[in-house]
Formats: sequence, structure tokens, C-alpha cells
Amino acid sequence: CGITAYCGNGFALPFLMQGLSKLEYRGYDSAGVTTLEKDGLKTVKCKGRLKNLEEKLQDFKMEGHVGIGHTRWATHGIPSNLNSHPHTNDDETISLVHNGIIENYRELKEELIQKGYHFQSETDSEVVVHLLDDYYDGDLFEAVKKVLKRIEGSYALCIVSTLEPNKVIVAKKDSPLIIGKADGAYVAASDIPALLEYTKDVYFLADYEMAILQENHIDFFTHEGEPIVKELVNVPYDL
Ligand code: GLU
Repeated sequence: CGITAYCGNGFALPFLMQGLSKLEYRGYDSAGVTTLEKDGLKTVKCKGRLKNLEEKLQDFKMEGHVGIGHTRWATHGIPSNLNSHPHTNDDETISLVHNGIIENYRELKEELIQKGYHFQSETDSEVVVHLLDDYYDGDLFEAVKKVLKRIEGSYALCIVSTLEPNKVIVAKKDSPLIIGKADGAYVAASDIPALLEYTKDVYFLADYEMAILQENHIDFFTHEGEPIVKELVNVPYDL
């Protein structure tokens, strides 16, 4: 399983896909991407190898400069097109990818269904996107903070939204997530090899930390929303 994210002045898709291919060693049963296009979120995902996704992508034009990608190792819900990530809320304004397990997803799912939310998948992950929708009140960062208080388990999360189009919000607990400072972009992934083609300057996100990635700017916070300063590390890897 693996995650990629891009926010910058180039096309997001090439980074997302090359990153996912570098994370193939982590194992996966399905893959998908979301980019933020002029007319809204575009999500393409499917069961199977990355090659299947690549073939499917040939029917789509994705030129967004903000996006997220995922390879899934199913824990809740069989490998299928619908259970593949990214997952979106009902009006398709928020999309997210998740690695890990949301332990308390059953009770959250019940609560959200009672509120009228529609679930497309059998995954634990999908509760997070509907919770975000529920808590969103004009500020995505505030909504993420509230959601992080509700979810239990392990997660690396990357979130994009048409409501606040020029950013990716990421959060981590007990699943890996690394951020890279590239030329004209901030990028994120589960592991360093996915970043190396774009940068060797990285931030290691720790548990209970989150970040807001923008084209030329990054902010780090605790899950409570306290700003923190993180060190940019140059990794001595050769391609
Ligand atoms: N628990 C989630 C799912 O089954 C995420 C699995 C993963 O880390 O790839 O969809």
C-alpha cells in the first residue's frame, strides 16, 4: 500500500503515477488517483495492477496541478473498483486517500448513515471523507482537526478539496508519510523512493503531526493545530 500527493506548478498526475510505481514493492491490490480539474475533482481508480490504472487513464485528460494517489492493500472490504481509493464525499467536493485502519469506523459509519450520508464502499477509510463533509464549516483545516479527534487507529491521510483548491492537507499516525520540497511543488509519499525523481529535500512527518502543502509554501502543525517548525533534511540517495 502507498500514497502520493502533489501540489505545485506542474501537472500532478505524472508525479502521482511515478511515485505509485516506486511504491509497488509495498504490495497492493488496487490503485487510484484524484486530480483537481477546472470543472471539479476527477477520480480514476480500479482493482488490479498499476498497469490497469494506466490503461484506464488513457481515456481521461487530467491536467490538474493538485492531486493524490493511492495503492491499496485491502483490510476492510474486498479488492474492487468501488473499494479502491480515493474516496469522495456525496457532492464530490472532497477526496482523500488513506493507508492504515480506522478501528472505530463501524460506529462512525452508523452515525453518518443516520445523518443521511451515502457510502459507496465497504472500506473503513470512507468514513473519514463523510466526517470531513459533516465537520466542514468554511475551513478545511479546522474540519480535519475535528475529524482527527474522532478517528482511532492508524492512518496516513492526504486530502484535497474543490472548496479550498490550492492545497493538500496531510496527517499521520502509525502509517508512514514523507514530504518533499521540489522545484515549484510540495509533494508527499509513503516512502523516499517515490520522491527522489523530484527532490532529495524531505521533511519526515512524525505521528500526530499534520501539514498543509501549497505550491510555494508549507505549514506544519500538531493534530491539535499548534504550529510546529520542522527541519528540511537532504537525503543522500542516488537514483
Ligand atoms: N483500510 C483501508 C482499506 O481497506 C486502507 C488500506 C491500505 O492501507 O491500503 O481500504
